[in-house]
Amino acid sequence: MMSSKVINEFVIPKCMGKAFKVRKGQLFRVIEIEGKQVASLMFFNANNYKEQFMAEFSGGLNYFHPSGLGSHYRLSKLYSKVPYENVMLSVTHNKIGDHFLGPHCTKKMMEIWGAPGHRSCSDNFSDALREFGLRHEDIYSPSTLNAFANVQIDPQGDGTINIDPPRSEKGDFIEFQAEMDVLVAVSVCPDDKSAMNDHSCKAIKIQILDFPQ
Ligand SMILES: [Zn+2]
Repeated sequence: MMSSKVINEFVIPKCMGKAFKVRKGQLFRVIEIEGKQVASLMFFNANNYKEQFMAEFSGGLNYFHPSGLGSHYRLSKLYSKVPYENVMLSVTHNKIGDHFLGPHCTKKMMEIWGAPGHRSCSDNFSDALREFGLRHEDIYSPSTLNAFANVQIDPQGDGTINIDPPRSEKGDFIEFQAEMDVLVAVSVCPDDKSAMNDHSCKAIKIQILDFPQ
């Protein structure tokens, strides 16, 4: 198998967002620069922005994927929303394996957490998507793939949702391969209120890799 080469890399500063395109077949990595920092990810078909990542159902669709193991699954395929339901990306490296398919932080969450006006992932996505002519209200579902998020649903069997500090350390990364041309929007989560980012915001590095001809 041919080895991939980094063709572009950049740092998204702490508390900021960025959108970029990845061509079908290319890989991209979301890399921890310091560790314990969550990156919230949205995906769009780069040729039809109506076809968007469907975080809520990607968990269930992976459960039934041949790579699913018993009652547990390890995320391997990311699907677009109904009615499309196409595989948008494959997960090709995920050593840490922690992620949360669910909401990102919002203005209202910050208000409830006692920090009205605090920057949230909503602000990051709005800024990042504006460059591509999209507004946050154009998003079918605001649920995201929250990479490195250490969220546990109901660990004590009492319905509690725990947010623990990420287990990811400097240099850890999650890697995806694009199964179609995709627009990727990343929010480097600005939440220093909960344990989501271990109470301090850090930057995230992105690498885009291609297979030389
Ligand atoms: Zn956030």
